[in-house]
Amino acid sequence: MSRSGVAPIVYLDYNATAPIRPEALGAMTKALATVGNASSAHSAGQQASRAVELARSQLANLLGCSPTELTFTSGATEANNLAIRSAAESRRAIVISAVEHPAVTEATEAVAAAGGSPVYTVGVHRDGTLRLGDLDAALAERPTLVSIMAANNETGVLNDLSTVVKLAHDAGSLVHTDATQLVGRLPIDLQKLDIDLLSLSAHKFGGPQGVGALFVRRGARVAIRPLAFGGGHERGRRPGTLNVAGIVGLGAAAAAVAENLDQEIADISALRDRLEAGVIANLPGTRRNGRLDIRLPGVSSMTFPGVPADAVLVAMPAVAASEGSACSAGALEPSRVLLAMGMTRDEAECTVRFSLGYATTTDDINKAVGYITEAVHHVRATMGNPGAEATPSTDGPEKPRREHA
Ligand code: PMP
Repeated sequence: MSRSGVAPIVYLDYNATAPIRPEALGAMTKALATVGNASSAHSAGQQASRAVELARSQLANLLGCSPTELTFTSGATEANNLAIRSAAESRRAIVISAVEHPAVTEATEAVAAAGGSPVYTVGVHRDGTLRLGDLDAALAERPTLVSIMAANNETGVLNDLSTVVKLAHDAGSLVHTDATQLVGRLPIDLQKLDIDLLSLSAHKFGGPQGVGALFVRRGARVAIRPLAFGGGHERGRRPGTLNVAGIVGLGAAAAAVAENLDQEIADISALRDRLEAGVIANLPGTRRNGRLDIRLPGVSSMTFPGVPADAVLVAMPAVAASEGSACSAGALEPSRVLLAMGMTRDEAECTVRFSLGYATTTDDINKAVGYITEAVHHVRATMGNPGAEATPSTDGPEKPRREHA
């Protein structure tokens, strides 16, 4: 218990954002204290530019690509928009999956609404994996671009990108992946995976929020058209003064990941398994969602049948997790991802996403199992007895509202 009497939060929402790595914080603090516009010719500018180029090579090293294939952006949302808007210049179709993040679905919808590329959506199986037969059928439209996420933000389910690349390239299409949830959590080697475009975001792997990158393979048949105008930065792909400290933080986080990834994968998946085993032992009937053997190490999507997720989250304010639904326009809609997997509205509304990461400890998991168990029991008791007071079972800060994280 802290001095304020509020229990320290058990943070299990790494898919929304991860805590900043000490390496990134240290490098950023230094960069923030140093003056220099990376475009200036004088020595202060050149120092900033060198810091940016170091970060670019640290990220390139993590991905197995060339630094010149990376464009820094404000995050994955912008990188996804940049990739999709550029590919849509041809006005030919774009194929996406039914479980993409809104940064992909809404970007493609905007293009289509403006009279550009029509969008074809490929469904997923109950376990969240892509319906490859449907992808094959959609490829008959000779799309300009196939955009399929690497790992799903709600379930952690991984897509078989090499197969997607092979099918799409055979049909003459470019392939983009939103790898926001994969980069920094599992290895990726862009020398082996022949994808054309890839988006990522620093804050999912211990870098700062508000910075990301788009990988564009050298020689890919796409001209990247900037979304904004005002300068020749980033080889004309992304104008605007570079976010030096943010980029430096991204690079430092990428370097820390490259150093520790194998160990982190082993530790995080063991903790995730411990969480699931503990919860299921205490709360029989709990269901895990998505393909269990092909998912990110740190993600667990669990359904507590008949127990609404929003009430569970309110009943355990000492745990930061997310519900399988997103607030849009003030209405709580069940998760599109879970519905696309064939879950009912009720099941989706009773689903909580827990996501662990590099700083999660065994103590966090032991505490979380206790809090979750108490919270589910509490909600069940309250529901069985509508007059009962709906007080939280543990103390802690108020739950923030979830927005497409
Ligand atoms: N794609 C996916 C799969 C995500 O999970 C997120 C972040 N929630 C984004 C894109 C958007 O990333 P950013 O916050 O960097 O804009």
